[in-house]
Amino acid sequence: MKNIAIIGAGTMGNGIAHTFAQKGYKVSLIDISEESLKKGLNTISKNLDRMVSKEKITETDKTETLANITSYTDIASGIKDADIVVEAATENIDLKLKIFKQIDELTSKNTILATNTSSISITKIAAVTSKPDKVIGMHFMNPVPIMKLVEVIRGYATSNETTKLVMDMSKKLGKVPTEVNDYPGFIANRILMPMINEAIYSLYESVAGVEEIDTVMKLGMAHPMGPLQLADFIGLDVCLSILNVMYDGFKNPKYAPCPLLVNMVVAGKLGVKSKEGFYDYSENRKAEVVSKQFI
Ligand code: NAD
Repeated sequence: MKNIAIIGAGTMGNGIAHTFAQKGYKVSLIDISEESLKKGLNTISKNLDRMVSKEKITETDKTETLANITSYTDIASGIKDADIVVEAATENIDLKLKIFKQIDELTSKNTILATNTSSISITKIAAVTSKPDKVIGMHFMNPVPIMKLVEVIRGYATSNETTKLVMDMSKKLGKVPTEVNDYPGFIANRILMPMINEAIYSLYESVAGVEEIDTVMKLGMAHPMGPLQLADFIGLDVCLSILNVMYDGFKNPKYAPCPLLVNMVVAGKLGVKSKEGFYDYSENRKAEVVSKQFI
C-alpha cells in the first residue's frame, strides 16, 4: 500500500495528505476547487515550516514531504493508481454517496475506500458501492499531523482483512487506531457532542456564563479547552449536524440539539470560521466572551 488518494483538500484533507506524505507515501490530493487545493498545499507547507523551526523535522524532510504530494482537480486521474482512497470532502450525505458511487467505478476490486466522515453511516456509504467489504471509516482528528487518534469504524459489511489493513496503516502513520462499530456518532462524537450540548443547555438555562462553564471544565476536569470554546473550533454548524444525526439515528430525546445552538447556526454564528460563536474572534483571533447577551 504505497499510493494514497485523498478526496478533499480542506481542513482535514490537507492534514491527512501531510501525514501520509511525511511517512513516505505517494499522495494524490484531489479537490473540485483549484482554490482549495492551492490553500491546502499552502497550509501543508506552512505547517511543515513550523515543524522545521521547532527542529522536529529537517528542511530535507520538508522538501521530500512536499515532493510526495501531487494535486488534481480531476478525480479519475487522481485515483487511478490508488491502493487506498481516503475521502475527506464536505460533510453531506448526498455528496458522499455520489463520490463513493464514482470512486467505486474508478477503482479495482482490491482498492480500500475509506471515509473521514464525522457522523455519516459507513454502512449506508458502503451500500452504494460494489465492494462494501472494502469500505471503512478512518476518522482522523483535527489537527491531523498532531492528534494521535484514528477512530477506525467498521461498517456492517466491512471485512476483517480491510479492518486489519487500516489499523496497521494507521500505526505506520504513528497514530493510535481504535476500532469501533458503525452506530450514530461512533464513539468520539457520541460522547463529545452530548457534553457540548449540555454545556450549551447550561448557558441557555442561565446556570452560568460562557467563561464560567469553560473554566469549570478546564480547571475541574483538566480539559485543555472548555466545551463552548471547543464547539467554536469544531464549528457550531458541524456540532448541530452531528447531534441531528444522533437524534435521528437513535430516536432518543437525549440527543436533541439545544435550541440556542439551533438559533446561533441559523443566525450564522458558527464559531471561529465565522469569527463569532460563544466567543468573538474578530480582533486578531483574540477570543472575547460574548456570553452576557444570554444571561
Ligand atoms: P472542509 O470544508 O474544510 O473541506 C472540504 C473540501 O471538500 C473542500 O475543499 C471542498 O472543495 C471539497 N469537496 C467538496 N466536494 C468535493 C468533491 N465532489 N470532490 C472533491 N472535493 C470536494 O471540510 P473538513 O472540515 O475538512 O471536513 C471534511 C470531512 O472530515 C467531513 O466529512 C468532516 O465531517 C470530517 N471531519 C472534520 C473534522 C474537523 O474538525 N473539521 C474532524 C474530523 C472529521
